[in-house]
Amino acid sequence: GGADLECDVLVLGAGPGGYSAAFRAADLGMKVVLVERYATLGGVCLNVGCIPSKALLHVAAVMDEVSHFDALGVSFGKPTIDRAKLRAHKEKVVGKLTGGLSAMAKMRKVTVIRGIGSFADPHHVQVEETTGDGAETTGKKQVIKFRNAIIAAGSQAMRLPFMPTDPRVVDSTGALDLATDPKRMLILGGGIIGLEMGTVYSTLGARLDVVEMLDGLMQGADRDLVRVWQKMNAPRFDNIMLKTKTVGAEATADGILVRFEGEQAPKEPQLYDLVLQAVGRSPNGNKIGADKAGVTVTDRGFIPVDIQMRTNVPHIFAIGDIVGQPMLAHKAVHEAHVAAEAAAGEKSAFEARVIPSVAYTDPEVAWVGLTEDQAKAQGIAIKKGHFPWTASGRAIANTRDEGFTKLLFDAQTHRILGGGIVGTHAGDMIGEVALAIEMGADELDIGKTIHPHPTLGESIGMAAEIAHGTCTDVP
Ligand code: FAD
Repeated sequence: GGADLECDVLVLGAGPGGYSAAFRAADLGMKVVLVERYATLGGVCLNVGCIPSKALLHVAAVMDEVSHFDALGVSFGKPTIDRAKLRAHKEKVVGKLTGGLSAMAKMRKVTVIRGIGSFADPHHVQVEETTGDGAETTGKKQVIKFRNAIIAAGSQAMRLPFMPTDPRVVDSTGALDLATDPKRMLILGGGIIGLEMGTVYSTLGARLDVVEMLDGLMQGADRDLVRVWQKMNAPRFDNIMLKTKTVGAEATADGILVRFEGEQAPKEPQLYDLVLQAVGRSPNGNKIGADKAGVTVTDRGFIPVDIQMRTNVPHIFAIGDIVGQPMLAHKAVHEAHVAAEAAAGEKSAFEARVIPSVAYTDPEVAWVGLTEDQAKAQGIAIKKGHFPWTASGRAIANTRDEGFTKLLFDAQTHRILGGGIVGTHAGDMIGEVALAIEMGADELDIGKTIHPHPTLGESIGMAAEIAHGTCTDVP
């Protein structure tokens, strides 16, 4: 008894996972309630993640591109930057998309409830209304009864315990605000998010240091790809500190003083105007009253699920960052569709062979499936097709021939196992490699597919032909 509202599917959190699940469930004829603490839909990805970062990265990439145009006979002069206007542009981009989501929710008759949701028992969620930027609660509470629930409560940036609370220490959300104009910036953590934001700040005038505990930047990517990115980006950095631990930090009048330990660490503490913490994201599993519903959550806050995205409680599903790595929007969306369909009684399951990753840096680095190191570690005999963009007419015409396209095939079956691209627009092209893997394509399937000329995408066909030994265009 005692419910203010009843529904077939309650979705907790309106990020890419949550809104996709809500929309699919509504399309399948179910009554859906979507609970979100913030004023806008879209979650991390649309509000403070994928989209605003790409709005800024686009501006940075154009600025970097034209900065080399003197040599081409075209001069633009030194750029002037109006941060307020740039911020407004970014906010407009985000607003267009989150506004579009609200309209779609209305169109589908999804009930959006603003507030912080927490399970009361296996069939009820209590929602405490929020206002303003999502931090304040009004004290108003309502109880929603559900037949199925889909948990899509996402993740949050992790912080190092010893980092001082100071406006000069930010996470990715703070960095996206562009509130300051740092001259010296430390990126804590050499993953995609840190390096993307570092690219933006560097183009806007900051000198960068990056510190990473592991032995390379952009973990997970093929090392050959990263090497090209690192060579092109070396001028942005004063210090790339690998295998280095950050051991202390102190807020001083002159900046944030940070201490490091490791072979490549500077002996003296270093002073920064801005420190970006990008050391990973932790799932919100322990903040939603999951225990009251009997849903298992790991110590780290992840929620284990089966291939239908069901938790240990069969009518409660979980999707997106909260169920595990890779924490990517496109993974969340696919899981969302599976969960909504399964809740509707369909036999859907999450059976993706591969999930592509992209660093939207300059050049972009994109990869999918097995890397060479992984193939070696698994003892799989591979054939390689490596196409350097110095042989691509389009890349040369673009004055951006530093990249390459690399495909890996199973030496026995000739089927594609993985691929990586480094270069401009690599992220836009990696989907073709993902499709090839999903379809079990072999060297000839890809190599004999006619790609348009002159495009960067041709490099995928060429790499396949090289692996097959039939490419005559490249020595
Ligand atoms: P989230 O997007 O985290 O959404 C969860 C939502 O649930 C939030 O809106 C939150 O407010 C809400 N919520 C949580 N708890 C409650 C509660 N108790 N009650 C009510 N509401 C609640 N991924 C990519 O694929 N490509 C990219 O280019 C990319 N760039 C990124 C850049 C940055 C700077 C960051 C931080 C992330 C980026 N990501 C990118 C990752 C991507 O944002 C996430 O993988 C994605 O947002 C996960 O979606 P989700 O639905 O699982 O959760």
